[in-house]
Amino acid sequence: MLKGKTALVTGSTSGIGLGMALALARNGARVMLNGFGDIEGAKSQVRAFDSGVTYHGADMSKPAEIEDMVRACQKELGGLDILVNNAGIQHVANVEDFPPERWDAIIAINLSSAFHTMRMALPGMKQRNWGRVINVASAHGLVASAAKSAYVAAKHGIVGLTKSAALECATTGVTVNAICPGWVLTPLVQKQVDARAAKDGVDNAEATRRLLGEKQPSMTFVTPEQLAELAIFMCSPAGDNVRGVAWNVDGGWVAQ
Ligand code: NAD
Repeated sequence: MLKGKTALVTGSTSGIGLGMALALARNGARVMLNGFGDIEGAKSQVRAFDSGVTYHGADMSKPAEIEDMVRACQKELGGLDILVNNAGIQHVANVEDFPPERWDAIIAINLSSAFHTMRMALPGMKQRNWGRVINVASAHGLVASAAKSAYVAAKHGIVGLTKSAALECATTGVTVNAICPGWVLTPLVQKQVDARAAKDGVDNAEATRRLLGEKQPSMTFVTPEQLAELAIFMCSPAGDNVRGVAWNVDGGWVAQ
């Protein structure tokens, strides 16, 4: 379905971003990966679909590196049709204990990076009159939790950015939407399970049960594959008039 299309997925060396990249490649898109950690492992998984894969190591907290990445994508892949803004980090602390440099990093990586990729990518999409921007927000883009002020602020911010950009593109073939996952078992969340296990003096299984029990009525993790299938739907012709949504896939989290 996406043969001939090009995609950039930020933060795609693990977790949700890697799931998005794999689904885009499986559907025929040429993909640029980004992120840290096991770069070769991510590349070889995506390469298996034979649709074409490349990588850029831009640090998403650095606007100049983001600009370089988008230009490289447009040059190496011959364009940028599908932009998935996914890179994200977390820090858990009350406002009065929140290190200012962690606040700045979360706002830069989880929110401002999407502004920078979008300002670079939208002109080409509008010119070709087709494009998809998919912002990976969170249930925390719709409701809050204590001790996650920077993350909640960034995720509410990206939902607002999504709506505004969607309206700017409304008469074009470019759609801009957000996906709002509940808990997904990725390295980002495993750290929070580990912290819960240490704090409560319980094992991994009990810490997981408590984490889910607090927020996610389904009591099961959302999977990267489920989120990626929604992204693929948004890229399909059926998604042409899905514009400016913040679509939660959250096991019932925000229905409460
Ligand atoms: P993850 O830790 O598995 O992946 C994060 C990715 O971002 C990795 O590829 C990492 O290398 C990359 N990254 C981190 N800092 C970066 C930087 N400065 N520059 C470039 N890349 C960077 O986490 P995940 O859970 O897959 O999270 C992906 C997105 O999904 C994040 O935006 C997160 O907020 C969001 N999200 C996750 C959950 C969840 O439960 N896991 C829920 C809702 C939303």
